[in-house]
Amino acid sequence: MRGLSARKPGQPELIEFPDPELGTGEVILAPTVCGICSTDVKMAMRGESDPSYTLGHEVVGEIIDAHPSSKWSVGQHVVAAPYLPCGSCAYCHHGQVTLCPDLFKTAIAPGGLAERVLIPPAIAERGLFAVPEGLSDEVAALTEPLGCVLKALEDTPVAVGDSVLVVGDGPMGQLIAAAARMSGAWPVIVAGMTSHRLAVAESNFADVVIDVSKCDLRANVEKHTRGRGADVVFVVVSSGEALTSGIQAVRAGGAVNAFAGVPEGTTVELDLRKLHYEQYHMTGSFGIGPAHMAKALQLLVSERINVSPIITARFSFEEASDAVSYAAQRAGLKALVLFDSSGGKLDG
Ligand SMILES: [Zn+2]
Ligand SMILES: [Zn+2]
Repeated sequence: MRGLSARKPGQPELIEFPDPELGTGEVILAPTVCGICSTDVKMAMRGESDPSYTLGHEVVGEIIDAHPSSKWSVGQHVVAAPYLPCGSCAYCHHGQVTLCPDLFKTAIAPGGLAERVLIPPAIAERGLFAVPEGLSDEVAALTEPLGCVLKALEDTPVAVGDSVLVVGDGPMGQLIAAAARMSGAWPVIVAGMTSHRLAVAESNFADVVIDVSKCDLRANVEKHTRGRGADVVFVVVSSGEALTSGIQAVRAGGAVNAFAGVPEGTTVELDLRKLHYEQYHMTGSFGIGPAHMAKALQLLVSERINVSPIITARFSFEEASDAVSYAAQRAGLKALVLFDSSGGKLDG
């Protein structure tokens, strides 16, 4: 079978991988849809030295083989959690599941962008979710990214009536804005630098958009928050400058969530006087646990968040590396790889 390897930095390519063999408690998927996210772009650019690994972790597929000791049967369509916290360490007991030291030890193999994906027993048990009747596999492919957003809202709660600033107009920024609006936030402000992405935010998820290439973020946030700054700020751009601008735009006593992953060694200067006297809170969020996946899937079923404006490109499996380039260029928003582009189940 083939999978999209990241062995060569900057040149993801479809190469042969050994077919997975079913073991006790395991399940094998034939993926139907896999979303591309910035983590895939990052890994494709950097290169992945482990040759047994493919890109892709936002995967939906049809079960083509299931061990009798698993609870699954052939033909079911499922969303797979890409990795799984152990559930029994001190961090898991504190509900801080993405801090689990074993988080990536249990993972789908070789990855989502492969013709066959092996689901290990623990994920088959706790991290697979049946795609409910009426939900397309395309929309279900947004479960993992939306799960990451729900994790961020758990770490940095948004109360009804809170003003929320999202710094970043990419797919995750749009999803956070959508979830904040659904949580009762007002106004939801999306700040970015890409006019077509800001247009998507403005017509679907945000009350206000700010083009930070043209104006000052803090001054404009003040206009919409009675001069105070935003109650809650999510920074969804991978840079210290973006985080600094987010901190500048939070109100005294508000909260800032550093949501975007950043390269090692990224630092910001912190105004300790502001931190001390303005008493704002700051944390980061990353990843998901099975509960976030389950809740995200539930939300997608409810249609209270309409993710279709975020899906802006579809590629065949043959074009999987083009899908990664598309995501890297920030031409649109979310790219999906459809494994059987002619298939009738892919009605998105
Ligand atoms: Zn992702
Ligand atoms: Zn754990």
